[in-house]
Amino acid sequence: WFDQARFIPPDAIFALTAQYIADKSPKKVNLGQGTYRDEHGNPWVLPSVRNSRKLLSQELNHEYLPIAGLADFCKEAARLALGPKLFQKQQDKLATCQSISGTGALHLAGLLLRACKTPLPKVYIPEPTWSNHHQVFSSLGFQCESFRYYNPETKDLDIDSYYSALKLAEPNSVFIIHACAHNPTGCDPSKEQWRELARLFKERQLFPLFDAAYLGFNSGNVDIDAFAIRLFVEETNMEAGVCLSFAKNMGLYGERVGCFLLATSTEQAAVQTQSMLEMLQRSEVSNPPAYGAKIASTILADATLREAWHDDLITMSSRIRSMRSELYDSLVSSGAPGSWEHLIRQSGMFGFLGLSPSVVQRLRGSSCRWSDHFSEILTPGDFRAIPHLHGRQLSHITCW
Ligand code: PLP
Repeated sequence: WFDQARFIPPDAIFALTAQYIADKSPKKVNLGQGTYRDEHGNPWVLPSVRNSRKLLSQELNHEYLPIAGLADFCKEAARLALGPKLFQKQQDKLATCQSISGTGALHLAGLLLRACKTPLPKVYIPEPTWSNHHQVFSSLGFQCESFRYYNPETKDLDIDSYYSALKLAEPNSVFIIHACAHNPTGCDPSKEQWRELARLFKERQLFPLFDAAYLGFNSGNVDIDAFAIRLFVEETNMEAGVCLSFAKNMGLYGERVGCFLLATSTEQAAVQTQSMLEMLQRSEVSNPPAYGAKIASTILADATLREAWHDDLITMSSRIRSMRSELYDSLVSSGAPGSWEHLIRQSGMFGFLGLSPSVVQRLRGSSCRWSDHFSEILTPGDFRAIPHLHGRQLSHITCW
């Protein structure tokens, strides 16, 4: 049966991580995979998560969760994304389902769209984007179209191309929107641009599907990072999907804690889509994993733990920001040619250095001290690298 199976090359990000692990250099730095590290290059267990785990251990059992997941978790996750006021207003028109982290939320969203919408809508995906978006939607049979999101000349968001894509797309198409901290460019629309985008979505009858993998992780403040989601749901009164992940903002990468949230326009649509989500979930995972959802909902529902989590968000986001400015300052002070303003304009865990492939290869191969070599070898280019520096060495820079 399986002689005809095609060989699929390994995922670019995980392949880079495998190369990183195999590299013997003591000075290596993994700039590929989007996982936060502390100043010693180690994974960081958030203090709020540790405390939540302690509380949980007293009463933990290992029963199945309901098909739609832990009800308190879904409610708290929705309240977090929408903010208390909008959540209150919208709650009877919401369908929610716990998912296998952000990836699972996207996949559930795709399953629901496929089950509800005929003919199958096209899915528009920004270019560049997180490497899995195309795979998730094309594996479900959607025709995926890319639209230009980034301008390598300005090293910034190409908002005009974004507007044009919305104006040209067929009504009822789906657009994947990075809610904040665009992966991999680090470039997000301004508030004004978001308003114009929301207006166009409504005018053109397009379905906004938010990929919200970094709420709170970007600015340190969930309310700021959820601006676009709330704008679309509240001001335009549109139906919208939100795919939430607690991998990054709670550091629960391996626990696979996520939630799909659908803001519908009527209570009846909410009841019906909720039933469909449960049917789709049942056939795929049956019951989502319990432990991470219990950790997350304990944090979100407890005022003290929630406060501690907000502090953790500030710790992570400020460290990332300070690394950006350190890199910027070092490049400028070492006389690296060109402008590096884009490095501090970008936000979130990812960003483009704007290096040419040959520079990336050279930095990778040489395990050089970047402050010694950047000034000699940097040239403006259109390739990207991730300046999520955990130390001072760039033996690995992503280039894909
Ligand atoms: N969406 C974006 C933009 C991401 O960067 C990631 C992970 O890096 C995900 C979704 C999925 O993350 P997870 O499934 O681990 O929650």
